Amino acid sequence: MNRSGLGRYGVSSQTVLRERTEDDEGYLICPECGTPVGNSLGSHEVARPEIVDDDLADAIGDVLVTHGWVCDRHPGYEVVMPTPVGSLSVEEAVNSGWVGVRVQFADGFVRTVATPEKEIRRGEVDDVSTDARGESEEAGSA
Ligand SMILES: [Zn+2]
Repeated sequence: MNRSGLGRYGVSSQTVLRERTEDDEGYLICPECGTPVGNSLGSHEVARPEIVDDDLADAIGDVLVTHGWVCDRHPGYEVVMPTPVGSLSVEEAVNSGWVGVRVQFADGFVRTVATPEKEIRRGEVDDVSTDARGESEEAGSA
């Protein structure tokens, strides 16, 4: 066993969530480093997501599967750019069988990202019937 070097090996770094961006020619690029990411579209894992809804956070745990683009050019962490849902339904934006989860991005804004419904049901523990109370802040997305 070689334990030198990776003191925190086994603890995944938190994935950085960003909005996708485009360069002057309309190619999708990573907003942090400018690497083209257009051909990385697919399902990606987000480590330690900042999920807004406590019940969903419990059900999803430490890894959120979402649909979008990824940049792996950053040492120690990945940048994931989820498919924007916007005013569409998640099924329209991504695919049927996917549902929306509100997650806080690295810029502090809360946005809806898609995750496969089965990923949420996987860890469903529904023995508490109290309604989630409080928190109805709207992150004003214009
Ligand atoms: Zn990047």
